Amino acid sequence: MNYNHDMASQSIKRNVAKLLAELPDGIEVVAAAKARTPEEVLEAVQARIKIIGENYVKEAKEAYELVGRSAKWHFIGTLQKHNIRRAVLEIFDMIESVDSLEIAWEIDRKCAQIGKVMPVLIEVNSGREPQKSGVLPEDAERLVREISGLGSIKVMGLMTMGPSFGNPEDFRPYFVETRRVFERIKGLKLPNVEMRHLSMGMTDSYKVAIEEGANIIRIGTRIFGERDQQ
Ligand SMILES: *Cc1c(COP(=O)(O)O)cnc(C)c1O
Repeated sequence: MNYNHDMASQSIKRNVAKLLAELPDGIEVVAAAKARTPEEVLEAVQARIKIIGENYVKEAKEAYELVGRSAKWHFIGTLQKHNIRRAVLEIFDMIESVDSLEIAWEIDRKCAQIGKVMPVLIEVNSGREPQKSGVLPEDAERLVREISGLGSIKVMGLMTMGPSFGNPEDFRPYFVETRRVFERIKGLKLPNVEMRHLSMGMTDSYKVAIEEGANIIRIGTRIFGERDQQ
């Protein structure tokens, strides 16, 4: 155990303690673990983080080997069809980034083979950015309706990123719009749909997101420190 590692784990513990202490009740924290080592992920879990968010299947597998079932695992990255393997689906407790029926079908088909019903969130491209993943706000309801007919996948809410800004206030309209879509779909009371989770907000925006109704926030930098440039 070297000096740098000790320093890093001290600050992860301190960062998590400070973050958890300031959050209102009922907010779940997903520690966004991209580009972190399995050891750093374990530190976060030992500091009372209960959910790990993974963008990449390879990193997820490596961290899962060390941390296992002492945390829950959410997939928060871009899913490609070839990545949707049974071994991958066995790791995850939720997929937050479903944005097409093709991906939903593949999850459903593979989950049926392992006897699992996968909770998912629909990712909304609230910034309407062509290069970003997610469905447009006005298309979310249709996708939820289509997925509601599948037996091995269950829609449990929405997730959004929003555009990147310097100023946290600038995120607000995107969170407001996503919340409005969330409430409207919730009011439909669709069969096999349980609109319980609204995942919005990252290090720069989680306070605004909570004000606008998020009950899951996804935090990387504020827990683990700045990421190295990739
Ligand atoms: C990286 C990432 C986060 C966390 O970002 P920070 O700004 O480091 O808190 C949240 N959600 C997703 C989908 C991410 O990829």
